Amino acid sequence: MIPFLDLKRVNAPHDAAMRAAMGRVLDSGWYILGEEVQAFEREFAAYCGVRHCIGVANGLDALHLILRAYGIGAGDEVIVPSNTFIATWLAVSQAGAQPVPVEPLAATHNLDPARIEAAITPRTRAIMPVHLYGQPAQMDAILEIARRRGLKVIEDAAQAHGARWQGRRAGGLGDAAGFSFYPGKNLGALGDGGAITTDDDELAERLRKLRNYGSSVKYHHEFAGVNSRLDELQAAVLRVKLPHLEAENAARRRVAAAYLEALDGLPLALPEVAAGAEPVWHLIVVASERRGALQQALGAAQIGHLVHYPIACHRQGAYADQAWPALPIAEQLQERVLSLPIAPYMGPDEVAEVAAVLRRALG
Ligand SMILES: *Cc1c(COP(=O)(O)O)cnc(C)c1O
Repeated sequence: MIPFLDLKRVNAPHDAAMRAAMGRVLDSGWYILGEEVQAFEREFAAYCGVRHCIGVANGLDALHLILRAYGIGAGDEVIVPSNTFIATWLAVSQAGAQPVPVEPLAATHNLDPARIEAAITPRTRAIMPVHLYGQPAQMDAILEIARRRGLKVIEDAAQAHGARWQGRRAGGLGDAAGFSFYPGKNLGALGDGGAITTDDDELAERLRKLRNYGSSVKYHHEFAGVNSRLDELQAAVLRVKLPHLEAENAARRRVAAAYLEALDGLPLALPEVAAGAEPVWHLIVVASERRGALQQALGAAQIGHLVHYPIACHRQGAYADQAWPALPIAEQLQERVLSLPIAPYMGPDEVAEVAAVLRRALG
């Protein structure tokens, strides 16, 4: 039996240190926007290679608040991938702006830069590439278009803590980035959490107020902000785990390499890594026209598996009130993709077991 993701096993190596960190917060008597959040913001900014990190309540808020802080809202359009978790789209909708989907590259499932310009209108304000499954999007081409057309680039880095593009880390590739620390992410808290990273001093200052009722001085509210803060407890937990992220991502790379070797030659579309991209393998996603048979075989062998994502965003009830253009690539992916178990704790035996089941099912 191999679970899709065993969070207890992910967190077991950090158990004692996390309990000590939580005890420190409990003893401090200070639970919101204190020393732990401040220290984590410093440490995560340094890790991403940027000047600022602003802790927020979750990844959706991180993305949504960046848009609001840039003044992007009603009447504006933001380019998003057609193939992503719905939070990317909802961040745009929540800001009052219109998500404009662009189809992905077949090889990486990431935003196809060649399709972006056709989607730009006079209302377009930003491009929001997602580093899907932990692989950076084609940032050189995306940034070139954005600079030329005067658009902001907001990275959805919720699946890409530590990933690199041309040697530089996700979170420092665009104008600003949103991260999620949802427990299952590569850097996961023990509950919800999120962060924004940026080198933009003005944006950072505005976001620090925006997340905290529009206030930097208690009971002085410069504008109508929201309550979206990273908890001290979650920050303390994340500070324990951040120093181990590199080693855990390296372990994920070893698992991914073992999968690619073991599945080589099967009639199965394997993940492709773009030149210049160093993925952190949040997910390992294969694709097959015979997905149903693979799901059945994995299920019978008690091997966890999921589909990221089974319904494309434009097909969701949340977006049923709008007419969407045909998005055949996203629609085909929703029928074919299949995510296999991947985690830093996985060993070669477990990978071999999963691969053997897939091999038999396709044989
Ligand atoms: C997880 C995720 C988010 C949202 O993060 P939450 O913390 O759950 O709000 C946004 N975008 C992508 C691509 C994600 O995977």
